[in-house]
Amino acid sequence: MGNLQKRIQEIKENISEACNKVGREQSEVTVVAVTKSVSVQRAAEVVHEGIINLGENRAEGLVQKQRDMQDSDVSWHYIGNIQSRKVRDIVGDISYLHSLSRKSIAKEIQKRASKPINCFVQVNVSGEESKSGVSPENLESFINELADFDKIRVVGLMTMAPNTEDEALIRSVFSEMKVLRDRFMEKNMPHAPCTELSMGMSNDYTIAIEEGATFVRIGTALVGLESEGVR
Ligand SMILES: *Cc1c(COP(=O)(O)O)cnc(C)c1O
Repeated sequence: MGNLQKRIQEIKENISEACNKVGREQSEVTVVAVTKSVSVQRAAEVVHEGIINLGENRAEGLVQKQRDMQDSDVSWHYIGNIQSRKVRDIVGDISYLHSLSRKSIAKEIQKRASKPINCFVQVNVSGEESKSGVSPENLESFINELADFDKIRVVGLMTMAPNTEDEALIRSVFSEMKVLRDRFMEKNMPHAPCTELSMGMSNDYTIAIEEGATFVRIGTALVGLESEGVR
């Protein structure tokens, strides 16, 4: 087995274990391989191993990989901050946008998209200044406002855990996200089914799954670092 296969195997085992721990099905969790810092070739190897959800955080990187991997059956996820003027470059060919947190972006999507785009509203639970996202207090009014945009479908909420070793703190952020997600899911809003929860990265995806994540975004632990020449 190659290095990449080993990593994927290990991640699948960890996911299975986390699911078992809390009585969830593994099929409830979609792994998005974050390929933002690796080459097209490495991304293609990931797809070859059966992981077909790929995440990119820059418009240029996304567009380049889409062009070079046209023949593969990939679902593309845009996971980073997006500038208004870049929306038109990405909106045609993504399955999910994980980072909606500004009305200006919603307006631009409305203008540029030809079909509804599956969007996660990014939430900043920890209140860290460095992180983008809507605060929990402003979440309801933001989601309500999005009802005016028929090109936006709020499939769920997304967050990034605080950058800390404190597992209890990370867990509390994820658990608060689940409470928020449930609250909007129960509202049954046509424009915002809000059934999904995008949280968990290389260092915290098992915690995220235990707390209810349905999409985990795994970069380095899955794709490795290009410089290591993983194969
Ligand atoms: C880079 C990135 C990830 C993946 O991070 P790793 O720690 O490499 O797993 C996940 N989500 C977002 C928004 C990112 O920018």
